[in-house]
Amino acid sequence: MNTIARNEEEQSGNRYSIDFSSSWKNGRRLPLNERINMFHVSMQKQNKEEQHLYMREIKSATDRTVTAVDATGNEREMLMFGSNNYLGLANHPHIKETVKKAINKYGVGIAGPPLLNGYSSLMKELEKRLSKLKGTEDTMIFTSGYNANLGLLYGLCTPHDLIIADEYNHASFFDGVKLLRGKCITFEHNNINQLENFLKTHKTDGDLFVAVEGVYSMDGDIAPLDKIIPLAQQHNAFTIIDDAHGTGVLGFNGEGAMEELRLKWSNEIIMGTFSKAFAVNGGFISGSREVIEYLRFMARTYMFSASLPPVTIAAVLAGIDVIENEPWRRVQLKNNVSFLARKLKRFGITTPPQAGIISLNVPKEANIRKMANDFNREGIFLNAIEFPAVPANKQRFRISISANHTNDDLKKLVNTIELVWYKHNIICND
Ligand code: PMP
Repeated sequence: MNTIARNEEEQSGNRYSIDFSSSWKNGRRLPLNERINMFHVSMQKQNKEEQHLYMREIKSATDRTVTAVDATGNEREMLMFGSNNYLGLANHPHIKETVKKAINKYGVGIAGPPLLNGYSSLMKELEKRLSKLKGTEDTMIFTSGYNANLGLLYGLCTPHDLIIADEYNHASFFDGVKLLRGKCITFEHNNINQLENFLKTHKTDGDLFVAVEGVYSMDGDIAPLDKIIPLAQQHNAFTIIDDAHGTGVLGFNGEGAMEELRLKWSNEIIMGTFSKAFAVNGGFISGSREVIEYLRFMARTYMFSASLPPVTIAAVLAGIDVIENEPWRRVQLKNNVSFLARKLKRFGITTPPQAGIISLNVPKEANIRKMANDFNREGIFLNAIEFPAVPANKQRFRISISANHTNDDLKKLVNTIELVWYKHNIICND
């Protein structure tokens, strides 16, 4: 069993190869200017290529390809396997046209939170259409998925409640728990027996919540919601499902992970983002009328933060049009994922991926940053994922697949993986 207490400084420091253990003295952190100095000394130790791996400058629209500035400072067109643009909506003509019209009608912003002056008729329409997509009673819109999770936890739960969460839940969920100063225990990823055991043995005098993801963001697997939801109901727990990566992508109609598993919404609290399949930004919480109405006045990230601009909302509305009218995109995405998974069997992809993410593990001895730069050089944009985004011994490349990728794109990716693996002496099955 894990608790969520973590040393954040060490977590984020690790990404930049900084040893933060020496930034503590006698149980206290060093003064800020000393820590800043340590940070910069460590950054300078990295070579230019390593530094280049984060915050790569993008010079074009994101689509099956992207133009980015490479480590040599030159612009270069690369195949894009690092964007959560699963359905290819980031540069979709219908969405671009709709957004242009929305700008002409609504201008570029609204400059205020929903409870005051920031509730546009587009926002009202989006709440209705998302509720229809998700099969729920009501929906509220946040400025990001991160804010939706923060607002949800801080607005709905109290420090007396008990939250039982999958250990692989997203950082924004755990940050919400921290803000709440809530009691949270984590069960091993997708381990239903352990979840059941915790539900039986951990008592609370407050409310009980079970929190999972529809599709796990770093592994791409679907939570066994068909087992989790009844279990939570049996123990009178509320179920929270973060379906950031399932919404629009899974199920015949694109409802998400629940539809994929042929489940109908009963009373779950569902969270989602517009930063994946919709390829813009923003987030939402969808559920019963009572919960959403309550949250509209309790979620501080909703009350005290200005609304998404109408143009972004227009892009999401047009995205729902595409989700409804172009179901072939979901089929194409599935075909692309299966095709790629078949080709990657020898690299350890043994279970068929269930959504738009394939996680390609890299042995912990290998220099994943050098490998990422080799991919760049070969014209492939791929994200190297290290601790704290994943456990320290589970570094990987997280491949995001799009409905817009062609078979040739996927073949080029496979050939490049072969090349990079060979160069770095990583053994794979024949
Ligand atoms: N939940 C999950 C599962 C995510 O993967 C992410 C984004 N990586 C978020 C929440 C936060 O969403 P956003 O980027 O819209 O803030």
